[in-house]
Parts: sequence; structure tokens; C-alpha cells
Amino acid sequence: MTDIEIKQIIKPFPATDGAGVKLKRSIGVEPDYFDPFLMLDEFGSEDSKDYIAGFPSHPHRGIETVTYMLAGEFEHKDSTGGEGKMMAGDVQWMKTGSGIIHSEMPAMKEGKLHGFQLWINMPASLKMSKPEYHYLDADEISKYSDSDKAIKVIAGRYKDTEGPINKHNVEPIYLDVELQKEKEFQFSIPETHNSFIYLINGTIKIGNNTNDIIEGSTLILLTKGDMLKVSAVKDAKFLVIAGKPIGETIARGGPFVMNTKSEIIQAINDYNNGKFVR
Ligand code: MN
Repeated sequence: MTDIEIKQIIKPFPATDGAGVKLKRSIGVEPDYFDPFLMLDEFGSEDSKDYIAGFPSHPHRGIETVTYMLAGEFEHKDSTGGEGKMMAGDVQWMKTGSGIIHSEMPAMKEGKLHGFQLWINMPASLKMSKPEYHYLDADEISKYSDSDKAIKVIAGRYKDTEGPINKHNVEPIYLDVELQKEKEFQFSIPETHNSFIYLINGTIKIGNNTNDIIEGSTLILLTKGDMLKVSAVKDAKFLVIAGKPIGETIARGGPFVMNTKSEIIQAINDYNNGKFVR
């Protein structure tokens, strides 16, 4: 057994995306890439000016986008005919493959919006595959609870509770953990995986070196190992996310992530020539 420790603590950067949505970006800026994870955004505000413009119609190729809503409502529409309203607790797991065009717009005029969008890279062998769209209602997400904690399992497994996303090439783990003050959460992660914690709120310590007390919106990259220990100094809510690295070179062009620059140019040409959606 190798204990998992803190590798790096990163405070997210303020960013603006879509038509002017304010968000906190961590992966995608610092670090630029944490294989297989390309981007992590926390969006959320009680002020509608920060989100009302939404994300009008835009394309993606070569990635998966995983959107997890904690509060508020978003409406999405995409080129596969998918359409619906995302509510608190719902997850949208989209494998864009060769190309998808979609819009993500707030379905609310006021009130609190809060959620996450994670981008997972796709390997060269899957980048041009047929788009796949998985919508998980809050009640389809597996749940575990005991007197110390409540866990939602979106992907991976905690004890006997297995998430609905399986048979996936990076063997992802995506947990939402609520841990009570002075309690500990122990979790086994495959040593092959890159893993991180995103603290949403509260105060935690991680691993054996407990000098670092972590508070508020924070990304914590973890070392490779197989035993993760998190203790709550105050009641805490955090995401535990892990995946097997893909190990390929990447070329980025905004919403397209491919392996080479010429594939990015191809994606831009396909989009401009109306050949994007196959
Ligand atoms: Mn998008």
C-alpha cells in the first residue's frame, strides 16, 4: 500500500467563457493538463449577471464534457437531437467524438447557480468516434451514506456502491463526498491513475503530512498511490476525481482537442464548411 499525498495545492483562477459566464478555472490553466483531464471549471454565483449570457451554440471535438449541477437549472440542446433541462444533482456526460454542436443556457433568470464542468481527453483511437450522450438524473446516481459521510458515486465505486458510468477507457472515478467534522474518509484508487480533490466548501487535511489545512474552493492534485485519507477539520464537501492517463501528445484549439495541429485545422475547416456534424 502506498499512501496518496498532496502533490500541489492550487487556487482556481477567475475566468470568463461562453457569452460572458464568470467561472473559476483550475485545470486548463494551472496545471495546463493533468492527463487525462483537460479542464475543470467551477461555475456559480447568486448574481444572474454572472451567468445569464450562458454558452450559446458552439462545437466540440475529441473530448468528453462532464457537467455536474449542484444548484440552479441549465437547458441544453445539441446536434444529436438531445435536448433537456439539467436540474440540481443531474449529470450530463457527453462524449463528443468527431463532433457535436450544442448550447448550454441558464433556464433561470435569478437565484443561485452552481456546478462543475470537467473535460476528459479522448485517445486518438476514439477522437473521431460517433458522439455519445449520457444524461443522468439525480436519482440515477448511486448513493452511499453512514453516520460520518454521504457519497454520490457518478463513476467508479465506493465499497459496494458503483456509479452508472462504466466500461470507460480511462476507468474514471467521480465522487461527491460530504464528510462531517472530525471524521475520516478512506478510499482506494488504482496506482495507475492520476487523481485530484476539488474542495467545494469546508476544511480538510489530506494524507499523512497534515500541516496543510485546506479551505474553500481549491484544487488539490494528488500523488500516485493507492490509499487516500481525507479528514474533515470542519464539515466539508469535495469531489474526488481520478482517471488512467492516456499518454498521447495533445493539440488544443479552443473547444477542439486533438493530437496534432493539422487535426485542429481540419476541425476548424469542417466547422466552417458545415461538415462538422457527421
Ligand atoms: Mn460546451
